[in-house]
Amino acid sequence: MKKILRQGSTKKYRARCAVCDTEFEYQVPDLIFIKKLNMVCVECPNCNILIQHKGNPSSNITTEQL
Ligand SMILES: [Zn+2]
Repeated sequence: MKKILRQGSTKKYRARCAVCDTEFEYQVPDLIFIKKLNMVCVECPNCNILIQHKGNPSSNITTEQL
């Protein structure tokens, strides 16, 4: 059993799906780590495509769609 001693980031992130144009909010537990690509992604709640997680919303790093 795990007990949380100090809660980590509960920050909410925003993403926009390039495929279906859905804008959504997600949190750290929603992230999926893709070992093969060494990439952290989040699944679009509408079309289920994987979108690369951008930890820093102010960064201008453009990401390729999978
Ligand atoms: Zn989508």
